[in-house]
Amino acid sequence: MKRTTIRPENVHQAALLRLLRDGGRSRAELGDVVDLSRSKLNVELDRLVELGLAEPDGLAASRGGRRSGRVRLSQATRFAGIDVGATSIDVAVTDGELKVLGHLSEPCDIREGPAAVLDRAIDLLGKLHRDGLYDELTGAGIGVPGPVSFAEGVPVVPPIMPGWDRYPVRETIGQALCCPTMVDNDVNIMALGELHTGLARSVGDFLLVKIGTGIGCGIVVDGKIYRGVSGSAGDIGHIRVDDLGPVCSCGNSGCLEAYFGGAALAREAVEVARSGGSPYLAERLAVAGTLTAEDVGAAAAQGDAGAIGLIRDGGRRVGQVLASLVSFFNPGLVIIAGGVAKLGHVLLAEIRSVVYRRSLPLATGNLPIVLSELGETAGVIGATRLISDHVYSAN
Ligand SMILES: [Zn+2]
Repeated sequence: MKRTTIRPENVHQAALLRLLRDGGRSRAELGDVVDLSRSKLNVELDRLVELGLAEPDGLAASRGGRRSGRVRLSQATRFAGIDVGATSIDVAVTDGELKVLGHLSEPCDIREGPAAVLDRAIDLLGKLHRDGLYDELTGAGIGVPGPVSFAEGVPVVPPIMPGWDRYPVRETIGQALCCPTMVDNDVNIMALGELHTGLARSVGDFLLVKIGTGIGCGIVVDGKIYRGVSGSAGDIGHIRVDDLGPVCSCGNSGCLEAYFGGAALAREAVEVARSGGSPYLAERLAVAGTLTAEDVGAAAAQGDAGAIGLIRDGGRRVGQVLASLVSFFNPGLVIIAGGVAKLGHVLLAEIRSVVYRRSLPLATGNLPIVLSELGETAGVIGATRLISDHVYSAN
């Protein structure tokens, strides 16, 4: 059965809902930050309460005169966030302020195809429903690890997602969950998560570089995701760093991702182990028969020179690309995120040294380059931010 999610009736109501998403507050405090007369503000707030989008929340402490009534988003508001990775799936349910009420994560191979993977996401959300975390969803956001046509809500020729090309992800999830749904790529939703609750909360212009199985970059301009004309902005994993480099999943050679995605790192780790460059990795390989990016991180943490060399090489190449991006975009912050970012300080130190050396002082003088602190929740929170931006906009 198709429900209709109630949306704000005008831009003022939409702006008030987005403010309340950052936390409930008094009518007087709202009056300080919106460009509305006190009486008009009260009309719009009363209307939001009537629509069931917001609700009264007692009285605020006095600011000298009459105590002002507090308002918050309806406590029945529930958003779902789905973060589909190459090798894992995360789902979460949040309240209207995007606080996570429940979060489930499990391994999942994107190559199983859209029907199986999206079914899994819906099953996991069903579990949160049975746990009593929601009755009805106000909206759902989903991120997938590949290029997405944002307007159509479909992946477009995603290199590591066989069977997903133009699959109707938005329609499938929207119909299954009976709520407005939006799809974006996983990197953009991570950037939105950082914007909502992470290190980028107070930064309008920043870059989020995700180094996972692949490599991508979320571009935030003036607090909004910049997607480009067709949705492929920030696809930096396929910038060529060496004409004679290894063949990439996209079919070209020498892409950044072919050197330093999770898959490339695992492959190089095997080479180093076999060539005698790392006793630690050789031992892991003998036991497990295969190596992963996590093994490289564990080896580096033990001081293994071969593993540290791999991370430095990768960090240097990421740094080269990032130095160009910093010169071009002049961001206020760069966040490094994703599974490979767990390699930590060796990686961060190498990236920083290349970027600070290669970019102009005016661009890097006040430029923090940091590791994400949100971990697995960045994607799911960002997915709920994406759909809440839509639901909290005027029709
Ligand atoms: Zn490529």
